[in-house]
Amino acid sequence: MNGSLREDVEAYSNKIIEIRRIIHQNPELSYHEFETAKLIAEHLEMDGIEIRKGVGGTGVVGILYGKNKGKTIGLRADMDALPVQEQTGLPFSSKKEGVMHACGHDSHVAMLLGAAHVLAQHRDELPNNVKFIFQPAEEDGGEGGALPMIRDGALENPHVDHIFGLHIVGEAPVGIFAIKTGAIMAASDSFKITVTGKGGHGSLPDQSIDPIYVGNQLISALYGIRSRYMTQTKPLVISVCSIHSGKKDNIIPDKLVMEGTIRTLDEDLRKEVKSKIGTMIPSLASSFGASAEVSFMENAYPITYNDPDITKRVMGILSKIDGMKVVEIEAVMGGEDVSRFLQKAPGTYYFFGTRNDQKGLIYFNHNSRFTSDEDYLKFGTLSHVLLAMGEW
Ligand SMILES: [Zn+2]
Ligand SMILES: [Zn+2]
Repeated sequence: MNGSLREDVEAYSNKIIEIRRIIHQNPELSYHEFETAKLIAEHLEMDGIEIRKGVGGTGVVGILYGKNKGKTIGLRADMDALPVQEQTGLPFSSKKEGVMHACGHDSHVAMLLGAAHVLAQHRDELPNNVKFIFQPAEEDGGEGGALPMIRDGALENPHVDHIFGLHIVGEAPVGIFAIKTGAIMAASDSFKITVTGKGGHGSLPDQSIDPIYVGNQLISALYGIRSRYMTQTKPLVISVCSIHSGKKDNIIPDKLVMEGTIRTLDEDLRKEVKSKIGTMIPSLASSFGASAEVSFMENAYPITYNDPDITKRVMGILSKIDGMKVVEIEAVMGGEDVSRFLQKAPGTYYFFGTRNDQKGLIYFNHNSRFTSDEDYLKFGTLSHVLLAMGEW
């Protein structure tokens, strides 16, 4: 099906790889995607696509108008890199010390630019308006890049009805679209607990209130929340990932600060866990004579929710791509701020496998040796194209 679209993607596939390599060599951290945004804008303009630059920071939005006053489909790619020192040994490795496209956003940008190029060639046949949404700062968490773009009107004029996006993943083999209806990625809340005790001499713990000892009890309590206080039928992760306290071997400190993450796939459970932590931790600390203050990061990434009806139709479209297979997966406990776009415009986020053992592509995202199988980028591009051309 869609023979000519596929041929047009094939014909552009070397260019997609070339674009990907340029971006890969010039990675930029969250909120600093200036050169990447410039390259995107230039490509869209060359294809005669109307653009808006500086949307919510470094974001770029391109728009193609459909032949009818149909719906508006948003296609989204993130653009930022990570503070990782590249060790792939590729000839087009990062030119920037300590910065690398270790999550594959270089490929995301290239695939979406490829789709924009092909769709621009077919502008007279477009059943929908298509918005190309290039967002900054997905890796940053909290405010992220989607929220500033939404505030800056990325989803309006014309109003975006449905959003689609994909992420390449090292966990899945090449040739696979991994997808799920409903919650596909978790809400990623962060917490910070400050324990205040009473410092003193290490030889006299009875004269002190040791925040390290209290913190230890708090961690046990936190990890018991999942197994003893929450339903066993819904996934939940609580991890303490940093602890800071103390200066010297013989001084009991005054304070301990710990931070961690909570991952949930259900909004009610998410509220319940936060509320449990908020009540249990201070009262437990006080039973040891200490005090504990709990705070949660504002603006945590919400659950990435795939609209079930639309996602089933997406699976139907993707399953028609020769050379690729659609596989239904369990949810992933990572978070993504595409979730914010999906809250505003029902749609689908899906994964795109890039593991290829024969080529030694065996590393996961965020690893210093992670890279994508470029031979498959055209399929990601084709998926964008076909979704944009769908009847929604
Ligand atoms: Zn990513
Ligand atoms: Zn990432």
